[in-house]
Amino acid sequence: MNTIENIIIIGGGPAGHTAAIYAAKALLNPLMLEGFMAWGVPPGGQLTTTTEVENFPGFPEGVGGLELMKRMRQQSINHGTRIETITVESVDLNKNPFKIIAGGKEYLTKSLIVATGATAKRLRIPGENKLWQRGISACAVCDGGLPIFREQRLVVIGGGDVACEEALYLTKFGSEVIMLVRRDEFRASKAMQERVFKHEKITIMRNTEALECIGEKVLEKLKIINNKTQEESTLECKGLFYAIGHQPNTEFLQGQIAVDQEGYIITEKGSPKTSVKGVFAAGDVQDKVYRQAITSAGVGCMAALEAEKILEEQREKEK
Ligand code: FAD
Ligand code: NDP
Repeated sequence: MNTIENIIIIGGGPAGHTAAIYAAKALLNPLMLEGFMAWGVPPGGQLTTTTEVENFPGFPEGVGGLELMKRMRQQSINHGTRIETITVESVDLNKNPFKIIAGGKEYLTKSLIVATGATAKRLRIPGENKLWQRGISACAVCDGGLPIFREQRLVVIGGGDVACEEALYLTKFGSEVIMLVRRDEFRASKAMQERVFKHEKITIMRNTEALECIGEKVLEKLKIINNKTQEESTLECKGLFYAIGHQPNTEFLQGQIAVDQEGYIITEKGSPKTSVKGVFAAGDVQDKVYRQAITSAGVGCMAALEAEKILEEQREKEK
């Protein structure tokens, strides 16, 4: 017979670790399933793919994304969280205790916090699959320093904060960086926009979309279109970096819980409560507006406090 856990937390990003710290401090003996390269992202989540984090309180000089996540993980462990580096494949939330399947093992739990974050989107254009990781990437910080990109023309697709960050980062390696923005406006913060507009190595092509990735063994060219004039052209480049947003990591939930059209978990307004009593969601998996480390951590805290309440209710009923 499997042990029935008080609380399982799926995901080891800022949301998951904050939930773990609070749950462990409340002596709930939490178990975290942090994922094993789930969706291609290391345990620790999205911040492990960035360099400096300058807006997380408590680090006046900034802190490396990987370092911040190492510290959160250590804090979870120090307070008594058990962590397994395993990816959840499916869940059965039809009755309590909930059933979780990961790595062929079955876990049972009285409460559940889903904090599985989100993953970079792809365009799915012709040539992309063949040339993926052969000149095409969704993480400049991870791949930008590779020799194939040195002193080459590099392209970034997207007009958000991440696209700006990636373009700025790539100026260290490429001879020039071209940003393809599908509208004539950026989505990025004004401060970020200013930084890319001012950079002498960055050129911006507005109203422009990619149609095809071309190359024999590695990326050589990109077919692009100006969506205002419908004019097509070819852009020679050795590197292509997608920065077009993220999709929530909710596939493993398979209809067990209410999600919106894009797959984000639906929570009650101002609360981490989901459509299933005893199941909570925190972080980017339920937030397409703020999507920050600190907001994810905040909701992680709320989820742990709500889980504590529900466990107390369950204990009262069992008396
Ligand atoms: P994530 O950090 O995405 O963590 C999700 C976790 O779930 C991971 O551990 C993953 O392995 C795990 N997981 C996924 N699927 C499964 C599964 N099936 N089973 C088990 N585990 C699973 N925000 C800021 O505040 N400041 C910044 O400077 C900043 N810079 C950023 C730079 C980049 C390049 C990116 C991409 C994002 C940046 N953000 C920044 C946003 C920030 O990283 C996210 O808002 C935050 O990481 C979300 O935390 P999370 O815990 O919800 O999810
Ligand atoms: P965003 O959703 O903010 O931006 C996505 C960008 O990609 C937009 O310009 C969007 O265009 C474009 N795009 C989307 N789909 C396509 C497509 N199919 N083809 C072409 N372009 C496309 O995502 P980000 O990943 O940039 O940022 C995620 C979150 O992380 C944000 O909240 C951001 O603020 C945060 N972040 C914060 C940082 C900081 O505070 N220092 C640093 C990095 C990220 P359109 O606008 O037309 O939809």
